[in-house]
Amino acid sequence: MSYLVLARKWRPQIFEEVVGQQAVVRTLKNAIKRNRVAHAMIFSGVRGVGKTTLARIMAKALNCRGETDNPPCNSCESCLEIREGISIDLHEIDGASNRGIQEIRELKANIRFLPTKERFKIIIIDEVHMLTTEAFNALLKTLEEPPEHVYFMFATTELHKVPITILSRCQRYELKQILFSDLLDFFKKISGEESVTISDKALKMIAREAGGSIRDGLSLMDQVFSFSDNEVTDSDVSQVLGLVDRRVIEDLSGALLAGDLEKSLKILHRSYAAGIDIKRFTNDLMACFRGALICRTSGRPEDILTDMTDQELANLKKRAQSYTPLTLYHYYHSILKGVEEMRYSSHPRLVLEMTFIKAIQAGDVVPVSSIIERLDSLLKGVVNETPEPGVPRALVAEPVVPQRDVDLESVDIAPEKREAPPSQSVEDTAGIEEPEKPSTSEVEAVSDVKPRGKNIRSHWADFTLYVKDRKYWMGVVLNLCSNAKEEGEALILNYDDLSDCQVLKEQENLKLLTEFAQDFFQKEFIVRVCARGSCTGIPDGKGNSPQKVRKALQDDPLVLMATDVFGGRVSGIRTGPRSR
Ligand SMILES: [Zn+2]
Repeated sequence: MSYLVLARKWRPQIFEEVVGQQAVVRTLKNAIKRNRVAHAMIFSGVRGVGKTTLARIMAKALNCRGETDNPPCNSCESCLEIREGISIDLHEIDGASNRGIQEIRELKANIRFLPTKERFKIIIIDEVHMLTTEAFNALLKTLEEPPEHVYFMFATTELHKVPITILSRCQRYELKQILFSDLLDFFKKISGEESVTISDKALKMIAREAGGSIRDGLSLMDQVFSFSDNEVTDSDVSQVLGLVDRRVIEDLSGALLAGDLEKSLKILHRSYAAGIDIKRFTNDLMACFRGALICRTSGRPEDILTDMTDQELANLKKRAQSYTPLTLYHYYHSILKGVEEMRYSSHPRLVLEMTFIKAIQAGDVVPVSSIIERLDSLLKGVVNETPEPGVPRALVAEPVVPQRDVDLESVDIAPEKREAPPSQSVEDTAGIEEPEKPSTSEVEAVSDVKPRGKNIRSHWADFTLYVKDRKYWMGVVLNLCSNAKEEGEALILNYDDLSDCQVLKEQENLKLLTEFAQDFFQKEFIVRVCARGSCTGIPDGKGNSPQKVRKALQDDPLVLMATDVFGGRVSGIRTGPRSR
């Protein structure tokens, strides 16, 4: 007996056999039952989710002659002929190879005649979006007034390429990607029926590779089954699918998080020599960091990471607990960048190596809790007094990576020298002691951030946005300012009209504005608001003026100690509110 590939052998023949499209199936069955089937329908969705399969089942149901309330019966002559692909009134056209106007004209000539044998002529056009514009136009007229004896069924993977004029004349059915759990159940059933012994782990690997497509999954199973007969081992599956062993990815992500570049490169080298697909390898690595991040931030990661085995998930959870979400995000983001760069590179391996280096540098983040612990132990021996609680509202600096913000109440220190490799501190201290209390505050060990005040003129627009984000009305009032300039230690805001700036002259508001200006420009400004020669500012040296607060923060013993311990310097101070 000749071998039938699984995808054909297991192609659903009746609605009940369709996997993972319950909603569409129910609608179609209802349409049949109520005799309300549209003469043109279009099935869309990614490949291998059952578009043409559903179209064929619909064709059967329309022409079924069996005695059943639930067509197709799948056993009458009409059903059997469609099943065998010999029905004379079912025309299946591949839109990709018959895309021109000539083919559509022939089709139109054909459908003028009544069906030869069945009740209806059914036209299935697969990949319908490939038709030319002329072909679509030729089809349009027919779709406007389809003959009673004809049904059109279109299938497409790219719905957006089908002209709206066509779409508006079709009943649309959007098919979903098959859920991982549905795929897994289906594959389990098939391996049982085919009397193949295969572990759940191996089936999960196949389902994961299938990426939501039944057909892809079944053709993978074909390969695996023919490789290993009736006893499939897990390593057979990895070998056939060319999968990188998960342990390799785990080792690699561990080495990266530990900042161990040498080990990371070695693992890459070994895998490369073993002939891995480097793009898939990188994707697996990215997925690993995504998983870690989800484990670290979600209460129930198992609901999201459904394609992992319990053991894999347990390992990942354990590993993720040792790092802050920010650290994990850095790595994820770096690898993601690598994946993007790889797309345009003819040297993907080199790109990946560079990605590792960048990732290790960018992931060089130590939680503030561990810094404070270290400082505490140092201070115990050196200083007896602890800093007044509540004094440092925030000491912050520019984020190392653009677009990334450092969390509230963080200290930023730029090291000028560093003795121990940073990785060790990450691994030793990153939240291990207090895993249940994730610290989002970070001390950034960065290499070359220079504290540099911003220029008023070129950053004025940004500044008003910055203020708007924190105190909306204040930003609006700033926009009314006719001229802003720096004079010595002062930032002078000139208004043409006193009524425009009256509210800013109030001490409380002036203080806030001063904080904003100092935080944003990183300059020790005294802010004066002037209208027609009369200026108002906060008297310098007054009790809790922003200047004083900043000075106090700068001279805080804790900060001085931190600067010393880490061989860095403060690159920015923030005293105003972080946001509204
Ligand atoms: Zn039938």
